[in-house]
Amino acid sequence: MESKNDVIIVGGGIIGLACAHYLLKENASVRIIEKDVIGSGASHGNCGLLHFSGILPLCAPGIVRHEIYRAICGTSPLYIKPGLDIDRFLWLIKFASHCNKSHVSYATKAKHELLRYSKNLYAQFFKEASLSCDYEKKGLLLLFRDRQYFEKYAITNAKLKQYDFEARPLDTKDARAIEPSIHEDVVGAYYNEHDDHVRPEILIQSWKNHLVKKGLIIEEKCKVTNFETAHNKIRAVKTVKGRYQADHFIISTGAFTPEFNKQLKLSIPVQPGKGYSITMEKPDRSCEIPCLLYEKNMVVTPWKSGYRLGGTMEFSGFDKTLNKKRLARLLNGAGEYLNTSLENPILEEWAGFRPMTYDDLPIIDRSPDTKNLYIATGHGMLGLTMATGTGKAISDIITKGSAQISLAPFSLDRF
Ligand SMILES: Cc1cc2nc3c(=O)[nH]c(=O)nc-3n(C[C@H](O)[C@H](O)[C@H](O)COP(=O)(O)OP(=O)(O)OC[C@H]3O[C@@H](n4cnc5c(N)ncnc54)[C@H](O)[C@@H]3O)c2cc1C
Repeated sequence: MESKNDVIIVGGGIIGLACAHYLLKENASVRIIEKDVIGSGASHGNCGLLHFSGILPLCAPGIVRHEIYRAICGTSPLYIKPGLDIDRFLWLIKFASHCNKSHVSYATKAKHELLRYSKNLYAQFFKEASLSCDYEKKGLLLLFRDRQYFEKYAITNAKLKQYDFEARPLDTKDARAIEPSIHEDVVGAYYNEHDDHVRPEILIQSWKNHLVKKGLIIEEKCKVTNFETAHNKIRAVKTVKGRYQADHFIISTGAFTPEFNKQLKLSIPVQPGKGYSITMEKPDRSCEIPCLLYEKNMVVTPWKSGYRLGGTMEFSGFDKTLNKKRLARLLNGAGEYLNTSLENPILEEWAGFRPMTYDDLPIIDRSPDTKNLYIATGHGMLGLTMATGTGKAISDIITKGSAQISLAPFSLDRF
């Protein structure tokens, strides 16, 4: 006989797990259906920053011109594959149209609310569940090699200050006092103590094990191919392994979510933003505080258990190829900002697809047409950071009818 759950979650990344966490706390019976294995998508090899201070949206005024200029100079971490992909083209046009002051102030307020909520929930989460995940509260160092960028960052920092997420400016001497590995060519730094970090793939494994003990059911290697609907409700999902029924369905399939647009009458404009990372054993000479190498838009994250360099943003569809030049850029970039040794054997070279929306706001909402369908995706560069806030909000809408924070900026009807 087919079993039925209260909730089925399609997609077992960090967002799906966080939804399961809060639903299980409300005594719901939950099944996650994952096409590969839990945590094998973007949530696997990311930089592990709980970047709560990342409240400013990517779509800033002037960014398009700036990135085109950097692309011409060959210094941009951004790559857009040429070619006729209408969805990508429209996405880029809409991204450009959001690069204005009024959107920045709207999106900053919205992101701030979700990030602050997620920060508080993470604090509670780490207190309640002692999961092994190399969690550390060491802040984030932003390192600058270009004095102009360093000086201009004061304007950004003033915006962060309005939301109590500001960083502390440091000259190189003071920066080296807290992080001795900083390279001589770094001209200045900002230290943001509001950020934490974890090792994402270890967090996912231990969180998964913790939830299985609480009753979570997991189906892996089980791609969802279709939905059985009747009277504006989903009755079951069809998968390569069979059919699963539930009262409520959450889609948290990250960058892959638009695959369901047609079947579910949605118009989710998420594009995959490909990023790379290189993971190695922690070198003897390493940084101890995570560092954001500002002009390179890349991050170096040290954990007790390892060392990761990550970054770049490619809009090239779901091409999983590892571009050796982009990987080399990560190694070279790290060498330009930090005097650390990078000779340890590389344990993993990885690429993942960030679920990018053109207004840089996630989608956390109930479907307007399908009564028992909920969407949690589009978290872009901050899915790990926003996971707790998203999971709690979705769980609250399902079990209590509404969330504790305003979800209006994250609604589906903006598309
Ligand atoms: C290089 C890099 C660095 C990053 N650094 C950070 C960082 O420091 N901090 C931060 O907060 N964020 C960071 N991010 C972003 C973060 O990784 C993502 O926002 C986040 O992982 C998205 O989580 P998700 O659960 O939505 O998606 P995913 O982790 O991609 O999970 C979606 C899951 O759905 C499954 N799926 C898809 N289709 C189906 C189907 N039909 N049936 C069943 N299952 C399906 C997939 O297999 C996948 O496992 C980074 C991303 C990259 C690429």
